[in-house]
Amino acid sequence: PILSNQIAAGEVVERPASVVKELVENSIDAHSTQIDVNISDAGFKMIQVIDDGRGIDPKDLPLAFTRHATSKIIDRRDLFNVHSLGFRGEALPSIASVADVDLKTSNGTEGAEYHVRGGKLIDRKPAELRRGTSVSVSNLFFNTPARLKYMKTPATELSKITDAMNQIALGHPEISFTLVHNQRELLRTAGRNDQLQVIGGIYGASKAHKMLSFKGADLDFKINGYVSLPELTRANRNYVVVILNGRFVKNYSIVKAIVDGYKSKLMVGRYPIAVINIQTDPTLVDVNVHPTKQSVRISKEEQLCTLITNTIAERFLHQNL
Ligand code: ADP
Ligand code: MG
Repeated sequence: PILSNQIAAGEVVERPASVVKELVENSIDAHSTQIDVNISDAGFKMIQVIDDGRGIDPKDLPLAFTRHATSKIIDRRDLFNVHSLGFRGEALPSIASVADVDLKTSNGTEGAEYHVRGGKLIDRKPAELRRGTSVSVSNLFFNTPARLKYMKTPATELSKITDAMNQIALGHPEISFTLVHNQRELLRTAGRNDQLQVIGGIYGASKAHKMLSFKGADLDFKINGYVSLPELTRANRNYVVVILNGRFVKNYSIVKAIVDGYKSKLMVGRYPIAVINIQTDPTLVDVNVHPTKQSVRISKEEQLCTLITNTIAERFLHQNL
């Protein structure tokens, strides 16, 4: 099982940012209201995620480190009706197979601490802790030197971490996040369910004033969000954040639909800062395409894109640019 976990790790745990993303998504699934992420040396020294969620029952902890063990699918049919972020039961065992993982958790009455290294349980003991879970990952890729070679510079790996955190924070304005790297605070959100506050936290309060809100709906989709004025743009589309049923997704057609809504008011090759929330029946979405779950297939995608373009175009019409 250690070998197959390492193979799975190659898919799920590409780089430090993927570890951050998987751990934070677990904290979200556990209904946390506060999630604190501490990073040392771009994640190569340490990645720590602390949450105040419902914790893991100590008796379920061995299972949490077992591949394809997930507490989130009750029934096979649930695969087609996915509401939680994680559902494959791959992340924790994959991460633990290529690093040192120290996990402390408590459900409020009982707590336990596990230290797993390279897929092997090194130590376990009862732990006292307030309700919640704390996961520390160190020595990432210590036993997979080939993977280490693929890493970019620390600055690039750190920017991938901040991108991932920004995207998650935009998708969950109801949760308060902090991101600290080598003692320096890079992100803090208030958790007041205010997406514009999160935008201000990420891009600076002054940029938040250059955003327009929009809202639209048809029979199958509800959309809302913020788009920047045409004067506030970026050279790449990383700042167009698409949240589908609470999950950050990558979908170029949706990005293009947003850009089309500007009706050529954007310079060629420039992208807006935008965040769009799309709500739809989960059965119209197939998230089971890739282990990292970022790409999705949407039924009625063309209909959705038309709704997006029209809604944003109409918003700019009323803005008199
Ligand atoms: P998945 O998220 O796909 O279920 P993971 O390997 O990421 O699989 O996690 C395995 C299990 O460990 C989860 O199903 C969940 O029950 C538990 N778990 C992991 N992290 C947390 C956390 N921060 N709080 C509560 N439970 C957690
Ligand atoms: Mg998970």
